[in-house]
Amino acid sequence: MATFSIENFGCRATEADASEIRLQLAERGLVLLEDHARAEVVVLNTCTVTAAADSQAREAIRKIHRANPAARIIVTGCYAQRAPEELAALEGVEWVVGNSHRSAISRLACNLPSPLRESAADFVPLAELCDAPGSLARGPAKILTADIFAQTAVDFAAPDVATRASLDDRTRPILKIQDGCNNRCSYCVIPFVRGRSRSVAPDAVIKEVHRLAAAGAKEVVLSGINLGSYGRDLAPRATLAGIVRRMLDETSIDQIRFSSIEPQDVTEDFVSLAARSDRIAPHFHIPLQSGSDRILRAMRRWYRAEHYAERVLLIYRMLPHAAIGADVIAGFPGESPADFRATYEFIERLPFTYLHVFSFSARPGTAAEHLADAVRGAEIRERARALRLLARKKAEEFRSFQGGRSLRALTLNRRGNDWTEALTGNYLKLRIAGLHPANEWHQVRVTGDPETAIG
Ligand code: SF4
Repeated sequence: MATFSIENFGCRATEADASEIRLQLAERGLVLLEDHARAEVVVLNTCTVTAAADSQAREAIRKIHRANPAARIIVTGCYAQRAPEELAALEGVEWVVGNSHRSAISRLACNLPSPLRESAADFVPLAELCDAPGSLARGPAKILTADIFAQTAVDFAAPDVATRASLDDRTRPILKIQDGCNNRCSYCVIPFVRGRSRSVAPDAVIKEVHRLAAAGAKEVVLSGINLGSYGRDLAPRATLAGIVRRMLDETSIDQIRFSSIEPQDVTEDFVSLAARSDRIAPHFHIPLQSGSDRILRAMRRWYRAEHYAERVLLIYRMLPHAAIGADVIAGFPGESPADFRATYEFIERLPFTYLHVFSFSARPGTAAEHLADAVRGAEIRERARALRLLARKKAEEFRSFQGGRSLRALTLNRRGNDWTEALTGNYLKLRIAGLHPANEWHQVRVTGDPETAIG
């Protein structure tokens, strides 16, 4: 039986893509292994959001090839879409497959011909093909991707939107209901590598949530590249709030959690929907990027710091115990010490409970690539470090604010000698006493200790 392994990088949307790839390969009869060193096919699903993400992917490819020179390496994801030649030049890589052609991976993994013309008629049982002599023969790496810089010609069509979440980690399957983005933030390469916004049809979403709930999932994490824009491309038009209401009314899923939502989509209606239902995790992740209006303008973000603050305070008023997180970029070109101070003080005064801090790195093809007035590397690192320290302080404050509360938590896969990790609706990771299977609800009391709770 042919074997494969998969390594994923990046955000929740790429995790959902990796789940879909995993399912497709398993459906073709390939057996999933954890260990890249033993797998015949290794798929790397890459991220390209920063230069660091690119270099992590390259390093992983080199490492896998060193440990397993016979492995057929297929590289896909956002980096593969952005710069396929760079990846094809790396030793050991057999295929570079852009997001635009992700659905072809399972055929390529099995050396099937005509990867783009898949139909029931030409389906061949894969165990035979993958075990066929010569299937490991390798020439130079091949590239299968659309040209991202000819955007209008790129078709990231519906099959590319993963609709099936994996139950491998049944505790919190990620359900990607939207892909792509119509915005053009000046620093961001994502619209180039994922195309325009498109959504999974509401009935397909509901069907998938039914399947996940029936299979035992307690929580689904709704994800997308621009989740708040869900449904705007559909006819009839749908909305994120609408699909969430249907999930609450029509399915038995215990808990729904949202990945990142842009600030303009965090409306009063939306927050009150979350406030009224104990089946919606009180957890909001809202990209901020900067607390300086001057920098927000240069980033081509469409809100100003005070608009953003209003949305955060709205959540805090309606759901004072909610987790509120943000992405922040340190060292965008032209970010002066005063701009940075504005960001720092803005974050300091708002009730954030955690932050994801990114050091700015210019992404090829973006408007910010050629901006003058770059911030020095050492200064970027220093600003990022200060923001991470602030984030830690905020997380500790939130933790102690939650001390003594009794919360429902879902057990995860991680455990020690006498504890099991669990996650609350408001995104606190706790260690509960005893060894428990994953995917169980426990009522826990939060302690002041950052690592523990009493089960
Ligand atoms: S909203 Fe802006 S940052 Fe987010 S994916 Fe779209 S372009 Fe990128």
